[in-house]
Amino acid sequence: MNKPVKPNSLEAYWMPFTANRQFKAEPRIFVGAQGMYYKTADGRDVLDGVSGLWCCAAGHNRPEIAKAVSDQLTELDYSPAFQMGHYKAFELADRLANLAPGDLNHVFFTNSGSESVETALKMAIAYHRIRGEGQRVRLIGREKGYHGVNLGGMSVGGMVANRKMFGALVTGVDHIRHTHGLEANLFSKGEPEHGAELADDLQRLCDLHDPSTIAAVIVEPVAGSAGVLIPPKGYLKRLREICDKHGILLIFDEVITGFGRLGTPFAAQYFDVEPDIVTTAKAITNGVIPMGAVFAQKKVYETFMQGPPNAIEFLHGYTFSAIPAACAASLATLDIFEREGLMTRAAGLAEYWQDAIHSLKGSRHVIDIRNLGLIGAVELQGVEGQPTKRAFEAFLKCYERGLLIRTTGDTIALCPPLIAGETHLDFMIETLRDVLKTID
Ligand code: PLP
Repeated sequence: MNKPVKPNSLEAYWMPFTANRQFKAEPRIFVGAQGMYYKTADGRDVLDGVSGLWCCAAGHNRPEIAKAVSDQLTELDYSPAFQMGHYKAFELADRLANLAPGDLNHVFFTNSGSESVETALKMAIAYHRIRGEGQRVRLIGREKGYHGVNLGGMSVGGMVANRKMFGALVTGVDHIRHTHGLEANLFSKGEPEHGAELADDLQRLCDLHDPSTIAAVIVEPVAGSAGVLIPPKGYLKRLREICDKHGILLIFDEVITGFGRLGTPFAAQYFDVEPDIVTTAKAITNGVIPMGAVFAQKKVYETFMQGPPNAIEFLHGYTFSAIPAACAASLATLDIFEREGLMTRAAGLAEYWQDAIHSLKGSRHVIDIRNLGLIGAVELQGVEGQPTKRAFEAFLKCYERGLLIRTTGDTIALCPPLIAGETHLDFMIETLRDVLKTID
C-alpha cells in the first residue's frame, strides 16, 4: 500500500550540503525567479548575489531557454547516448569547441561538475596508458581545492571537511600546497603579487614520486568553494611549465570560471595558459538543465582514436550525456551570451566591482577581501572555536534583507549573474556593509 503523502512535510527530502535540521526548523523557500531576483515563499524579492550556485549567469527565467527546452521535448525527448547521435549534440560540441582556446577542440558531455572531473581524471590516466606510459597513474590536486563530490574528485580535492568522513579515498593521489592567506597578499585587488613560487610545489612532488608516475595535475584556476582564492601572478604559467617539462597533463577545473565569469569564455584565456583538459558545467545551460562538458586537446582525442575502427575508444559515458533537452538549453544559453555580449561583460564591470567590494575594507570582522572578474570574497574573522558561525549569521541576515550570498567557512563568496548592473552591485555591497555592522 502507498504511504500517505504528508502535506507540507519537509521531512522526507534529505537536503545536500545543508544543515537539514536547522533548515527544516526555519525553512527558506524560493517559489519563483526573474532576471536578477528570486521570489520567496513569503513574497519577498531576493537579489541573487551568487547566480544560484554559480550557474545562472544570464539571469533567471530566460524565456528563450524555456522555449528551446520545451520545443525539444516535444520533438525528440531522448536519444540513446551510446552508439546513436542527434544533431544538437554535434552542433553544441562544435560551438563550445570554438569558444575554447587553442587546440581544446573536442568535447565530452556529462551531467555535472563532479562527473566532468571524474571524466577528466579517467581520460588522463587512459591517455598515458594508450601512449605506452601505463605507469603514469598518480593524480595531483591542491590543498583547499574543490572538484565535486565523487570519489575521484574528492580525492584530488583538498577540503578537509568534505574528505574526512569518507575513508582513504582514491590511492596514488597527492596535493600541492594552496595559495591562501599569504600576509603580503591580504586585500589584493585582482591577482595577488606574491606566491607564484608556490607552483614549485609541483616540482617537489615530481622529485618525491618521480614525474614518470604522474598522470595529471588538476586545479581550479580560481578556487571557488574554499573561499575564492585568486592565483598569484604567474602561478598558473609556472604550473604549466612544470607539467610541460615532465609530460604531465594539466587539467583546469573551470566549473565556476567557465562561461564568462572573468570576462573571457574560460579562465584559460584570462590567464593565457592553455591546459590539456578543461572541465565545465553549471552556466553551460544557465543552470536550467544538468549538464557538464569536458574539453580535451586535439592531441588527447587523437591519442584515443587508434586501433580497430569498430572498437570503442573510451569506455566511459553517461546515459544522460548530451541529452537533447540539455543541448537545447545550452545552445539557447550560448545564443543569449552572444546576443548580449555576456562572455565579455564581466570585463567591463570588473573595475567597478573591485572598487565596490574593496570599500568594505575596515568593516567589522573583515580580515581580507579578494576579487577577480565578477567574483568577490569577503573573509571574516571566525568566532573562536565556532568556525562558520559568523559568516552563516551574515548569510541569514542578508537573506532577511533581500540578498542571497554564499558562505564557505568564514568567507562570503559573491558572483552575481553576468547581466548585473551597477545598481545591483551597489545593493549587494551596501546590504553587506549594513549586515556586518549588526552581526556579533
Ligand atoms: N568543480 C568545481 C570547481 C566546483 O565549483 C564544483 C561545484 O561547485 C564542482 C566541481 C562540482 O560540480 P557539481 O556540483 O555540478 O557536481
